Amino acid sequence: MSKDTLSNLRTQISDLDAKLLEILAQRKDVALKVVSEKEKGNQNLRDESREQEVLLNAFKKSKELGLDNHYVNSIFKEILADSNRIQRKYLQSKINSESAVDALKISCQQAYVKYNTEAAKKHFTNTSLNYNLCETIKDVFEEVQQGKSDYGIIPIENTIAGANNEVYDLLLNAQNQIVGEIKVQIETCLVALAGESIKSIKEVYCHPRDVMLCRNFLAENGLKIRYLADYENAVDKIRELNKPGIAGLTGKLLEDITGLAVIAEDISNQKEVFFRFIVVARKPVKVDMRVPAKTSIVFSTQQVPGALADALNVFKNYEINLTKLESRPVPGNNWEEMFYLDLQGNVQDERVKLALDEVGKQSKFIRVLGCYPIPDVEAVQVKLPTQVDDRKVEVKVPEKVAVVATTKKSSLISSRDHKQEDTIIEVKGVKIGGKSFTVMSGPCSVESYQQIMDCAELASNTGCQILRGGCFKPRTSPYSFQGLGYEGLDMLVEAGKKYHMPIITEVMSTEDVHKVAEKTDIIQVGARNMQNFTLLAEIGKTQKPVLLKRGMSCTISDMLDAAEYILAQGNLQVMFCERGIRTFETATRFTLDLSAVPLIKRRSHLPIIIDPSHAAGVRDLVPALAIAAKAIGAHGIIVEFHPEPEKALSDGPQALRFHQMEKLMQDLGNTPWGDY
Ligand code: PEP
Ligand code: MN
Repeated sequence: MSKDTLSNLRTQISDLDAKLLEILAQRKDVALKVVSEKEKGNQNLRDESREQEVLLNAFKKSKELGLDNHYVNSIFKEILADSNRIQRKYLQSKINSESAVDALKISCQQAYVKYNTEAAKKHFTNTSLNYNLCETIKDVFEEVQQGKSDYGIIPIENTIAGANNEVYDLLLNAQNQIVGEIKVQIETCLVALAGESIKSIKEVYCHPRDVMLCRNFLAENGLKIRYLADYENAVDKIRELNKPGIAGLTGKLLEDITGLAVIAEDISNQKEVFFRFIVVARKPVKVDMRVPAKTSIVFSTQQVPGALADALNVFKNYEINLTKLESRPVPGNNWEEMFYLDLQGNVQDERVKLALDEVGKQSKFIRVLGCYPIPDVEAVQVKLPTQVDDRKVEVKVPEKVAVVATTKKSSLISSRDHKQEDTIIEVKGVKIGGKSFTVMSGPCSVESYQQIMDCAELASNTGCQILRGGCFKPRTSPYSFQGLGYEGLDMLVEAGKKYHMPIITEVMSTEDVHKVAEKTDIIQVGARNMQNFTLLAEIGKTQKPVLLKRGMSCTISDMLDAAEYILAQGNLQVMFCERGIRTFETATRFTLDLSAVPLIKRRSHLPIIIDPSHAAGVRDLVPALAIAAKAIGAHGIIVEFHPEPEKALSDGPQALRFHQMEKLMQDLGNTPWGDY
């Protein structure tokens, strides 16, 4: 064949390719017109029978034209999948107008920059992207949270090493929402200076997660592993060290390896390796009901046999498919687990809402981490005319849905309408709520090591279940003792440990919430902070039970509303505390509103605790109010005592003396619990 003929033929091929592309572009325009027509008719996005027809036509036509059926089929499946993606994107951009901008700022981790940018490009097609490279994944979350980037791209798992635990732990406390996911196939290879071969290599520079991918290859070749820091890059490292005998693990075709050579490829433990990335943003995305969606949640169950099975059963009853279940330890609660779950469905879907509501009622904590479109388009199978379609199209709605749907719904999570049975909060084996009466006691403030140890000993000896002690004190005057802070908290923790008692302490500022939550068993919100909504929302993100004290000038409804700030964040372990309100009476420090007990028990499933100490303000009145609390059916009391009340640094006048505390516990033992 002459050179001219070949170049002529090549020109023909190029012309045909150009035509193919033009036709694909035209097809895309028509697909967009189709979706806007479907939208008007409120039709389903996907019409599988139409897709079957397209594939069947292609099948017939390819036969006529003498083309390979298999080849044509796979091309058309890709074309249909692309149409689907275009149509989904169109619907999504209509309800999320803010995402339709020209340039986006993306945060991602430096270490996996090429993997991350590959994922970003796959997700944000047709948009120019500026990257904000971060040292750690935590930084990625923070940059997005602070509005320095529009989105964060985070690798959450791969098909060899499994989940990246750090991401799950960060998701729990991050304010960000998951707004998308991307799957990218990655092939790992070994790069070294030109002239090296696998035989000459002694050491391999790599990230810990890459080691997991290629463990077998590294072991078989007796290669010594040199771990890179999170922010380091294997390719740069090899260039920088520029010495023989070393190589680096990296994603094939992802890095610019000019000056280096690939000395081994396809070295992963398994043939195909995929990375899954999540896209996070400050605000959730709305997913059009016609676009297939996934919802990610995190929850923790009660510590009772079968609790997880019960929760999973809820999804089964509502016929919701689960695609992932991961468990991670609850920070500060040894041997308790948080469950991360991905389900197929849209949070706006009634069925998903009902299932989440039901799981919420059985959980201690539940939060939706995000609802986002599923990027994969599952191809339909060509059905030859002789094959019969035996699939049922209609989805059976389980009976249970109807039952739940007819119950009257209230907007308050704390209400009896939302949940009929009493919520029982369990703290290290101590039950609060239901039919139990729990005594929390201790000094107003932790003042010294000896003081809290003496108090803990008395509390334990007299049968109190929970040890109280203030470390951050909300004092009316800034000149009064403000508490020992974290130093005091460490003493309280030690006292609780020594006497096997769970502890409760107050947190006053948002910055301290998570640090205090790591150490205490119950978080107290003081009366003065009952309507500090930012504080409440932050506490709602922790997994610790909360005692919410009634503000001295707040109504019971105000308190119920305030609790929603905690509950709405997913922390469902809230107990109320009536500690006296301001009235015109001055003989007592405040006026104990005992009617709060039967009232709250009617309106809410959450426990109600009485604080007789702050209500009375006078030590001698405290026992009578404590007895009244048990008689009227409160779920417990929180009471102050002190080894030497005269020397107390706060609330001395209301602190019981040791012998009074002992007597109170005996008297309480003889008082029946009222169930009103
Ligand atoms: C306390 O419990 O010591 C306290 C400060 O309580 P309150 O917030 O009810 O005043
Ligand atoms: Mn006090």
